[in-house]
Amino acid sequence: MRRQLAGIILILGILSATSCKNKENQDPNTTDKPEIVYTDDSLKTYAKVKLTTDISQLNEREKAMLILFIKAAEIMDELFWYEAYGDKNELIAKTPEELRNYAEINYGPWDRLDNNRPFLKGFGPKPLGANFYPVDMTREEFEKANLKNGKSLYTLVRRDENGKLYTIFYHEYFKKQISKATELLRRAATYAENPELKNYLLLRAKALETDDYYDSDVAWMDMKTSRIDFVVGPIETYEDELFGYKASHSAYVLVKDTEWSKKLERFVNYLPELQKNLPVPDQYKIESPGTESDLNAYDVIYYAGDCNAGGKTIAINLPNDEKVQLEKGTRRLQLKNAMNAKFENIMMPITNILIDESQRQWVSFDAFFTNVMFHEIAHGLGIKNTINGKGTVREALKEQQSHLEEGKADILGLYMVLEMLDKKELQGIREEYMVTFLAGILRSIRFGGSAHGTANMICFNYFEENGAFSRTEKGTYIVNFDKMEESIKGLSELILTLQGNGDYEGVVKLTKEKGIITPELQKDLDKLKSAKIPDDIIFDQGIKILGL
Ligand SMILES: [Zn+2]
Repeated sequence: MRRQLAGIILILGILSATSCKNKENQDPNTTDKPEIVYTDDSLKTYAKVKLTTDISQLNEREKAMLILFIKAAEIMDELFWYEAYGDKNELIAKTPEELRNYAEINYGPWDRLDNNRPFLKGFGPKPLGANFYPVDMTREEFEKANLKNGKSLYTLVRRDENGKLYTIFYHEYFKKQISKATELLRRAATYAENPELKNYLLLRAKALETDDYYDSDVAWMDMKTSRIDFVVGPIETYEDELFGYKASHSAYVLVKDTEWSKKLERFVNYLPELQKNLPVPDQYKIESPGTESDLNAYDVIYYAGDCNAGGKTIAINLPNDEKVQLEKGTRRLQLKNAMNAKFENIMMPITNILIDESQRQWVSFDAFFTNVMFHEIAHGLGIKNTINGKGTVREALKEQQSHLEEGKADILGLYMVLEMLDKKELQGIREEYMVTFLAGILRSIRFGGSAHGTANMICFNYFEENGAFSRTEKGTYIVNFDKMEESIKGLSELILTLQGNGDYEGVVKLTKEKGIITPELQKDLDKLKSAKIPDDIIFDQGIKILGL
């Protein structure tokens, strides 16, 4: 589940809040231009964006709670600094002034979007175990020591005065900070009118004090009606590259987009019908998709700690605890304003270079957001068990399954969008969704060989071979709508058949032939690099920005 989440983060890695149909007429020099923080060749480029939402829909109690959440999130940020690097103040003090901001973005002296290359003089490679373990500890020493709670997600490993390894729980090591954070959560709970939110906040405070998160995860799963939400605590384990055992502190402060959340609920109800209509022979669509998935749209108003480091997360799929997942499933949160920021600052500039001028007006945020949403919904469609006794699709396709599954979600997502347009459940026209889809492919391909990157390459090459788009003499891409509709059906059928047959060799062959970037495409992608299209976004955020 964690791996899958990493994938989601990557694909969504780059998206942005106004829908603007006529981008052509927009002079980039006269609109709100993002502040480009670094354009130095060796450093990455970031666009700085404000995190806001319509807070007028919230009452005074909710607003007061948001302030408390942000204060608690700031504590998570402090804890993550310690886990990722160590002493933040000491590092910033010795960093040359022009690189201080860059060190803050990276939570240390290593460039997160450049394979952790050290960008400050005097630093070697980043320790694999970050600051969760002693820097001089080897894997062998850890394993030999067989420490009590050594593999716990919620302990640090340290040396005593004799150099002997021991573990200490987060709630003990960070006692001072945790007691401040829990006080803030409990104070927030006194303002909560929504009983589900109140219950969650109280249980989450207790969880932070004990490092036992189960009850609070279950309470979070039951939060269906609150307009505000607070994801807080040690959650993901990516920062521990030594073993992947240790969870990092992180926080998101969230405000629900009720309008979009309602629409999503309606779409999920169409799943059985959409499954029946899949463009594949009957034996590949006999399973019935679950409609219990909890999928909602939010504006994120504050990022702190782990989720604010490196590529910005714009979709959350939690909790990670498999026990809670089995009992309750997961909640999937789409972070709409952060997606919009990526759309405006990354996807539109890519469009203006690579999509043919005659079709640029079709690239819109609404279509982009919808395509991404339906990608998520489409994971629930199709086939999970092979039709020929090879067990589950995952077992049969092994390491080939993750990118094929992402490719399936992309293409079936678009297929579903077109069906929902036919049913008038979605607004807009087919052209908009198809051109935006192509621009989305060009965006995701830029990030290489991850599950999503590979899926997009396969789709790009399949589309090109089947004439779904062509490359003009000017080096731009133009969609051929009829052929793209045929290709959507063709690729859907191909992927579902490979999955249903558990055809491992077939997927290997497809990936080898089509999961590649041709030299011609590479040249086009290089244009994006020389145009300094931002690599990611960073946030102007907090109580003042929100006007709280
Ligand atoms: Zn996915």
